[in-house]
Parts: sequence; C-alpha cells; structure tokens
Amino acid sequence: MSMKCPQCGAWTSVMETRTRKTENVVVRRYECANLHRFKTEEKVTCIAVKSPIVQTSTVPDALKVWQKSVSDIRDTSSPLAK
Ligand SMILES: [Zn+2]
Repeated sequence: MSMKCPQCGAWTSVMETRTRKTENVVVRRYECANLHRFKTEEKVTCIAVKSPIVQTSTVPDALKVWQKSVSDIRDTSSPLAK
C-alpha cells in the first residue's frame, strides 16, 4: 500500500527510505506520477501494553504511571466494574 500524492492524488513510488536510528524515525521520500515530491516520517506514537509479564524495577516510573492510567480507564469503561 502506497501513499497518494498530497498535491494531485496520483499514485507514488518510494524514492528513498532513511532511518534515523537515534530518534527511531523512518523517513521516506516519494515521487508521484506527476513528479511531485514529498516526504513522510514514521515514528512511534504510543506503546501498546499487553499483559506485562516482567514487572521489575527496571521499568521507568513514567511508564508505570502510564500503565496505571490505562488500567484506570479500562476499569471505568468496563461493564464489569459496576
Ligand atoms: Zn502529484
């Protein structure tokens, strides 16, 4: 599946894919059928926490807080929580 050109909506092809390892970002350079060029950036925007198996002190405090807030949301929205 490829991106459509933001200018004309034509199909595009990927000219180049670059990884910025320090930022954990993938940058792709595209060119569309009408020779418009644009870039996309792909990055991690959230971390899905499934049942955590390892609960150790190596988990950063910020992540612990985040996990707690997610479980709070699940509790209040669950029909079983009544
Ligand atoms: Zn175009």
